[in-house]
Amino acid sequence: MKKIVIAIDGWSSCGKSTLAKQLAKELGYLYVDSGAMYRAITLYFLRNHVDWTDKKEVKKALKEIVLEFIYNDNTQSGEIFMNGENVEYVIRDLVIAEKVSEIAAIKEIREFAVAQQQKLGAKKGIIMDGRDIGTVVFPKAELKIFMTADNAVRVERRFKELYEKNPNVSIEEVKDNLEMRDYIDSHREVSPLKKAKDAIILDNTHLTEKEQLQQALEWVKARLLNTRSATDFLRSV
Ligand code: C5P
Repeated sequence: MKKIVIAIDGWSSCGKSTLAKQLAKELGYLYVDSGAMYRAITLYFLRNHVDWTDKKEVKKALKEIVLEFIYNDNTQSGEIFMNGENVEYVIRDLVIAEKVSEIAAIKEIREFAVAQQQKLGAKKGIIMDGRDIGTVVFPKAELKIFMTADNAVRVERRFKELYEKNPNVSIEEVKDNLEMRDYIDSHREVSPLKKAKDAIILDNTHLTEKEQLQQALEWVKARLLNTRSATDFLRSV
């Protein structure tokens, strides 16, 4: 069966990873959370007091970071490991979210992460979510989805998620963090967040998880048919 690459980009907290994980399960594809890589690098920099305004320090630190995704049978999803440590949960903390966009805007850091992301996608059959997947990481992806949702809905969703882990978190903090990240992510010089020209917009403000999955599966089906017929066409020439 022909396999494709699916790129999902969009604003913070609009359900990219939820959709990507469900699609991966349905299709038997690999799911890669590219944001987790930038979050893990941020964790390393904070723990080791790396001065990210100093290019030499950044380059030296990157040589010391090994990132891997290891499948967890219980959660049925890949989890990120940094230098052998499972950091999947600790990187979701607001402390990391406060700094990650600043760190992800650095050219050397993006080059480090993008090279690994492209390697993971070399065999296709992959779904990756992030901010520059359809524009930079996989510009030739067969299906590109650009996700969005109303701000208030996104803040509410992220607040609920964070509140379950830490009841001290306030909705204002969450709102400020989302707005700040979206601003930095879409205004940075290197690989800013923007919709790829050939991406389909998915606004899930009023959609249930099931409805958005259904919609995305329709698009996958259409792409698989297109890809196959194009391939068959080429074979027959
Ligand atoms: O996807 P998530 O919200 O976990 O990503 C955290 C941050 O990592 C984003 O706000 C963004 O600054 C950065 N990121 C990025 N490029 C990606 C994925 C994430 O710059 N492909």
